[in-house]
Order: sequence, then C-alpha cells, then structure tokens
Amino acid sequence: SIINNSFKNSNGKHMKNGKSSINIRKNTKDLLKHRKALPIYDVRKDLLSYLKKGDTNILIGETGSGKTTQVPQFLYEEMMLNKGSVVITQPRRVAAISMATRVAEEAGTELGEIVGYSVRFEEMISDRTKIKFATDGMLLREAMLDPLLKRYSWIILDEAHERTVNTDILFGIVKRAQKIRKEKGKSPLHILVMSATMNAQKFSSYFNDCPMLMAEGREHKLEILFTAEKSDDYIIACLSTVIKIHKQAPVTHGILVFLTGQEEIDNACLALSKIIKRCNYLAPIKISPLYSALPQHLQMEVFQPSDTEERHVIFSTNIAETSVTIPGIRYVIDSGKAKIRTYNPSSGFDILKVRQISQAQAWQRAGRAGREGPGSCYHAYTEAQYKKMPIMPAPEIHRTNLATVVLQLLTVGVKDVINFDFMDRPRQEYLLNAVEQLLSLEAAEKDSNGELRLTEEGKKMAAFPLDPKYAKILLMGPKYKCTHEVLTIVAMLSGEQVNTVPSGKMRSVATARHRKFASVEGDHMTMLKIYQTFKASKKNKQWCHENFLNYRNLIYISAVRKQLSDICYKAGLKMLSCGENTDDVRRCLLTGLFTQVAELQADRKYLTLSNHDEAQIHPSSCLFSSRSPYLMYTEIITTSNAYMHGVSWVAPEWLYQVAPDYFRKHHIKADPAHYAK
Ligand code: ADP
Ligand code: MG
Repeated sequence: SIINNSFKNSNGKHMKNGKSSINIRKNTKDLLKHRKALPIYDVRKDLLSYLKKGDTNILIGETGSGKTTQVPQFLYEEMMLNKGSVVITQPRRVAAISMATRVAEEAGTELGEIVGYSVRFEEMISDRTKIKFATDGMLLREAMLDPLLKRYSWIILDEAHERTVNTDILFGIVKRAQKIRKEKGKSPLHILVMSATMNAQKFSSYFNDCPMLMAEGREHKLEILFTAEKSDDYIIACLSTVIKIHKQAPVTHGILVFLTGQEEIDNACLALSKIIKRCNYLAPIKISPLYSALPQHLQMEVFQPSDTEERHVIFSTNIAETSVTIPGIRYVIDSGKAKIRTYNPSSGFDILKVRQISQAQAWQRAGRAGREGPGSCYHAYTEAQYKKMPIMPAPEIHRTNLATVVLQLLTVGVKDVINFDFMDRPRQEYLLNAVEQLLSLEAAEKDSNGELRLTEEGKKMAAFPLDPKYAKILLMGPKYKCTHEVLTIVAMLSGEQVNTVPSGKMRSVATARHRKFASVEGDHMTMLKIYQTFKASKKNKQWCHENFLNYRNLIYISAVRKQLSDICYKAGLKMLSCGENTDDVRRCLLTGLFTQVAELQADRKYLTLSNHDEAQIHPSSCLFSSRSPYLMYTEIITTSNAYMHGVSWVAPEWLYQVAPDYFRKHHIKADPAHYAK
C-alpha cells in the first residue's frame, strides 16, 4: 500500500457499537474484580507516585500485566489528566481499536465517549473523550497540525520496542513538544514509554536519563517450548503442532499461529481444513485468517468471543503480535518468521522478504497466550536458534523511504532535518537522498541561507497520507485536466489487488473477463477502466462477482478515493476530467513517477534509468508481452527476479517536459525522433 499515514474519517462514529454497549453495563462489576487481580494493580501506588513526580518515565512490565489497559485508567481515575487527556499510541490499527474497545468496557462507557480511538480513515471520539488510543501514524498527523500537542497532558508511547518509523519520529516530536511547553510556561506534557521487552537503558538515556520502572510478575503461567531439532519447513512444523495440540487440549482452548503473509495464511487455512476433513476422527475446527488486507469487520470478528463449541485456530501475521488479547487463546505457535518490507536506497527497490524475527518479537508472540489463563507457546525452532536471533528488531527507520520522513519533519517545523534528534540516526547519505527527492518533486526548496523549507506545494503534499510522489501527482491533476482520473488511479494503487484469481478451471474464465478491461496504454489506465465500470454498475456486488473483481477491495478503494478527493477539495484543487484524452493522465502520473522509468535495450530487456538495473515486466501486467521504448512503473518488487508492477508506457519527450533536469542528468538522447517506433 502506498498510503503510509493516517487521516480522519468523520463517518467512523457511525460504526456499529450498540450491541457491545448492552453487554458492557452488565459486566462492569466482574471486570473490576478482574482488573484488581492484575499484577499492575499491586504496584499502582508506587507507580502513580513516580508518574506524579517526574515528567518522563519508562515502564517495563510482563505481557499481560495490565500496562495498556490499566495505566491510562489510573491516570483518569486519579484525576491526573487535569484539563487535558491521555493518548496511548499503538503500532497497529487492530490493536488501537481492540484496546479502546476493551478499556471502554472496563470503564463502563460506550466506545467514543470517555474512551475512544483514532486510526487511519476512522475516528471514534467525542469532546468528552479523555482516554484515546491512536496509531502512532495518526498522532504524528495531529502533531503536524499542532506541534505542541496541546490537547494532551499525557502521552503514552506503548510497545516502544517496535521502533516503527512513526514511533521513532514521535519520540523526537514529543520530546521537543515537552521541552518547548516547559520553556514557554505552558501546561506540562507528561511522557510515559512502555513495553514488555525493550532496551530500557537506551530509551532512558534518550529521554534525559529518566527513571525506569519495572512492574514485576505475571498473572498467569506461561510455558515456553522450543523444538528439539531444527525443522526444514516452518509451515509444516506449525501445522503439525496445531494437530498435536488439537488432539490433547480442551476444545475451548484456542490456538494462535504466527505466519508471514496473506497467501501463506490462506494456504495454511486451506491445508488445515483439508486435514480435518480427511481425518474424521479429529474434532471440527473453526479456522480464521488474520492479516491487514482482510476487511476490517473480518479482522474484528476474531476479537469476538467464539460462539461455537469448536476449537478456534487463527492464522495471523504479526498484526496480532503486540498489545492484543484474543478471547480463548491459550496456545501460541510461533513460526519465528515475519514479512518485512525493506527499502534499498541504492537501487530504489522495495523488497518484501520473509525474515527471522527478533527475540523481543518472539516474546511478544508468546505473550498472546496466557492472558486469560495459563498458556503455552510453541516456537517452531530450537532454543539454540532462538539464542542466535537479534535481541531487538532493527529500527524501521533504517530501512524505509525517508522522503516521507523528511517531509513529515519539515511539516512539524523541524528545519535542520539532518540533525534531528533521532534515537537511531539514519545514514547521512540516505537523508540527503531524501532531501534531494523532495527538492526534485518541488516539495521543498532551499532559502537564501541554504536552509531547507517546504514550498507551498510541499505543504499541500504533506496533507495527503501518501508517499510524496503520489501527492505530487494529485496536485498536478488540475494542470493536466485529469484530477478525477488520477484520484481514481492513486486510490486504486493504495488499495489491495482487485482482480481475483481463482484456481483450477475458472482461472481462464477470470483471465478472459479481466482482459476486457486491459488497456494498450498500460496498467494504470486498466485500473481506471475497472473503477469507472464498477462505478457505472452502481458499485454492484453481483457485477464484481461476474467479473472476478474483489467487491470489498473496490468499496475500500472508493472510500479512500473519497478521502483523497476531500483533501484535494480542501486544498482548492479544481476537479477536472480529461475525457478521452488519456495521454494527459499518463503525463500527470509521470510528474510523480519520473524516477521510476525503464528503458528498452537492444537485447529487448529493460534497464531502469535511475540505476541501470535490469527489471522485467511482471506477468500480471497487461503490457507483459509488449515492448515500448519507455515505461514508467509503480514499484519494483524483487523476488527471484526484479519485477516491475503497475506499468504504463510513456513517450520520451514527456520525460523532458515533466523533469528536464533529472533526465538531462541521465543523458536521454534529446531528439524525440530518435525514438520513433
Ligand atoms: P499488557 O499491556 O501489560 O500486555 P493488557 O493491559 O493489555 O496487558 O491486558 C491485561 C490483561 O487484561 C490481559 O492479560 C487479559 O487478561 C485482560 N484483557 C485485556 N484485553 C482483553 C480483552 N479484549 N478481552 C479479554 N481480556 C482482556
Ligand atoms: Mg500492552
């Protein structure tokens, strides 16, 4: 997904929450008893006295000890929020939503009242909200509008060990806001950093040697098991462990299996259901997948207590790794792997690779068991392998597109981005590279003192929750008279795959249906055509079904499109359409993607202009068998080969028109006639 940040959806408040509010009132008493049994309750007094004394603290406590659910409530109950409120950051949206739901239940209020949440495309808060769970991206977005974060008296940075880019930037922003508020004599900002597993010393020294508090003890026993011998195939190892547990444990005990990605998870679900069907001596199992591309209501279903008498087995990516409590889970099976997107600045490629996790992540995964009762975690690797794993995950800022980071920093008023107070400083050359990109996109410029500043365009770009190059494309929409078209294409790019590819006999039928939308101009125009036809069908589900298109993904995309067009509207962009003149759409796309162009060689291979690396057109592209002299691509994903995804052809003279300096540097032959045919 190219959307890398968050923004508000005012519709969020209309989400169904009537049902849960009925259950809540009934349960509040039981929940209070439960709350008081949590280990964090034993240290409540000491903890509060520390929190009252210092303006910054670090809290380390076992998974399940009650940090995330209790500490914000303590602050509220003790009236320590003054006139402000507390925001608790979470690395992922499922965590933010499910933690808010839980705390609202415990506090006996309806979600969106005293307790609320704020995640990308959705917000559930009101003027009365005092405890808010937010993704770190969302809080960062708020900091852009209000760098001193004035509405909060407390900021809790939860699961700090994850070191997402957003959290890392937030550390610096929050630290700065606290300092400035103090200097200006404004209401103080309290910071609390929490995790079960982190390098506390490192965080403490970053936050001016603040105190480190340890809350010891855990509520339920957690048994940790490793395999005796190395296994060759972690998926098979995980599946056979599921069966082993299934044969022995009471059926009410659920199993949560950590795998790496959507495809793998779908396959594992299928494989398990086949095994169960074939072995009729095994009891039936309710099987659920959990990954971020899954529609939200299906994700949240996993957090509902099971209504069947069957064992529940969930196959999940690392979106369920931290924070969450999934009802009924007593067993965790950890493959030891996760899919990690890494950005290689020397090639400009994003690589999605299955990698080994860190010890901290393994411990977090284990922590998802043993939350409601004693639990067990089976790691699908040996103890010796565990000991060789890195202790902490590497900070994401060391493997990310820094252009967005730098744009965010400039927006919150950080001028000297190169010397920003990073907890782990990215390499200088990468930062400089990112600055270069923003300069070439004309998002930033240097003033007469050589200081970097945002341009008017850059300010507008930062309002979009998009990689700067896509924001640029939208801004250029009016100039090329195709705002409507590029909005659709950028929304399509930010969503999940809409073509469904069935297996077996239906595959060729699906391919034929998809071909109807194929454009000779390339994948971007194909996407446009799919969306336009979808819209013309009045967003008809049956139509999607007949055309092997994913209805939910298209609905999601239309929601994203609406959000983006609202931002365009606020930015005063004219909503224009180019009609049949679709060349202008590709010209407009090129204003953002001009660094992502490949050139056909004499041997009929493509080399990227930026680095002269070989890249192939991905077989799923509608241009797969064509050979245009120049192509722009949305991204290159390297698996066994480097594949260009989202490919459209461009005319060589356009390259000069949109970014003359850049292409002169790459010595494209100036005479367009050179490229005729
Ligand atoms: P920590 O942040 O220290 O890992 P939490 O505050 O998230 O701990 O949770 C403490 C305990 O509260 C869990 O171990 C579990 O028993 C209970 N709990 C939290 N959320 C839920 C939930 N959604 N459903 C049921 N129990 C929950
Ligand atoms: Mg927690």
